[in-house]
Amino acid sequence: MIAENLAKFKSAIPEHVQLVAVSKTKPNEDLLEAYKAGQRIFGENKVQEITAKHEALPKDIDWHFIGHLQTNKVKYIAPFIGMIHSLDSIKLAKEIQKRAVQNDRSINCLLQVHIAEEESKFGIPLENVRSFIEDEIFQSFDRINICGLMGMATNTENINQVKQEFEQLKSLFNEIKLSTDSLGLRANMFDTLSMGMSGDYNTAIEAGSTMIRVGSSIFGSRNYQ
Ligand SMILES: *Cc1c(COP(=O)(O)O)cnc(C)c1O
Repeated sequence: MIAENLAKFKSAIPEHVQLVAVSKTKPNEDLLEAYKAGQRIFGENKVQEITAKHEALPKDIDWHFIGHLQTNKVKYIAPFIGMIHSLDSIKLAKEIQKRAVQNDRSINCLLQVHIAEEESKFGIPLENVRSFIEDEIFQSFDRINICGLMGMATNTENINQVKQEFEQLKSLFNEIKLSTDSLGLRANMFDTLSMGMSGDYNTAIEAGSTMIRVGSSIFGSRNYQ
């Protein structure tokens, strides 16, 4: 079933859109099934879970961290993480920089932007993203590759609202892309717009997403117990 779902996605999404298979709560066998079907990017939102899965599963998997990341847990994922989608504070950036140096590597990150109407402690407010990037301390973090932006739309049936939120993020992405030089970003690296999940990936792709994060439509619904 997982392989079939993946094949369906692969044929339905444009070639320039990358698929992150969100495997949180799912057992290793499910991930292996997706792996055998050719999937290499997996997304997880718990540090303990992603670390255990990284140890148990094939080493060429590209692990993406997509949930809220606590500063004191960065050290566990720093050696292997392929991309962190949830960079949203200078404090967290400082810790990622420190652990990247310790591991003698650079770490790819997306700035998580708050675009939903829902109250959330997470994500940089849209209007603050520029000043966040321009922050002098942030500018000194040479081991963080800012690869783009990530956002989650409001969980609503109102497609127009979802569309509007994604389009706002796309506009900001374009603006930043045009001014990478003055913002101290590497232009060739700033190319990822992570938006869209099982319920709204079509709308996200129409609005310009380059990376969708899909869980339940691939692995089936999750059982939190
Ligand atoms: C769980 C999760 C997803 C995937 O959600 P589905 O609706 O199962 O596709 C995507 N992004 C984030 C940040 C998530 O936590």
